Amino acid sequence: MKVLEERIREEGLILSDTVLKVDSFLNHQVDTQLVLKIGEEFGRIFGHLPVTKVLTVEASGIQFAMAAGIALGVPFIYAKKKKAVTQAEDVYSAPVHSFTRQEDYRISISQKYLGPGDKVLIVDDFLATGAALVGLADIVNESGAELLGVGCVIEKSFQEGRSLLEARGIAVHALARIASMSPGEVHFIGNPDTAEIIKESVEC
Ligand code: 5GP
Repeated sequence: MKVLEERIREEGLILSDTVLKVDSFLNHQVDTQLVLKIGEEFGRIFGHLPVTKVLTVEASGIQFAMAAGIALGVPFIYAKKKKAVTQAEDVYSAPVHSFTRQEDYRISISQKYLGPGDKVLIVDDFLATGAALVGLADIVNESGAELLGVGCVIEKSFQEGRSLLEARGIAVHALARIASMSPGEVHFIGNPDTAEIIKESVEC
């Protein structure tokens, strides 16, 4: 998605070879118009599938799942990271290791909102190690619902997330795929810059 790649180039802060900060337009302050466009793009990619629910994890996936849910005309559910006192009912849950926070936590959703007969699209902001999305996929399996695919806004393709999900037979679509990055530069898969770099390395 060109407009997304441009914003990452212009405003993304690359903190290291593995961590990209997009707090000015996606993760802290949120560009609402861009998020709606992201939702429409997910609608375009997944609109032919009979999705009944979009699923994500709080907090950074919520706006994208909502935009995708609007585009697809279905509700979205966000998995909670801590069990609240209001969440007294039975839950599906799965353990997750956080890449950015370097800690383990459990995600859970109420059994009331997902079950056999549901067809699920998982949406999240980043695909990195894949731990969060594998946790969500486990929850979908446990519920008896069917997982139709995964949509993520930014994929760091140099990390193992995509291959982990594809090894489980899950179809993954990412709107911006980062081949490599380092402070001050970012290369996207499918971007002419990247093609140039690959060509140069082949010629060397
Ligand atoms: P995972 O490693 O499970 O694929 O990533 C889980 C979550 O960590 C993502 O949903 C995202 O919220 C966060 N995350 C992973 N890599 C990055 C990154 O480079 N930048 C930011 N801002 N968040 C990230």
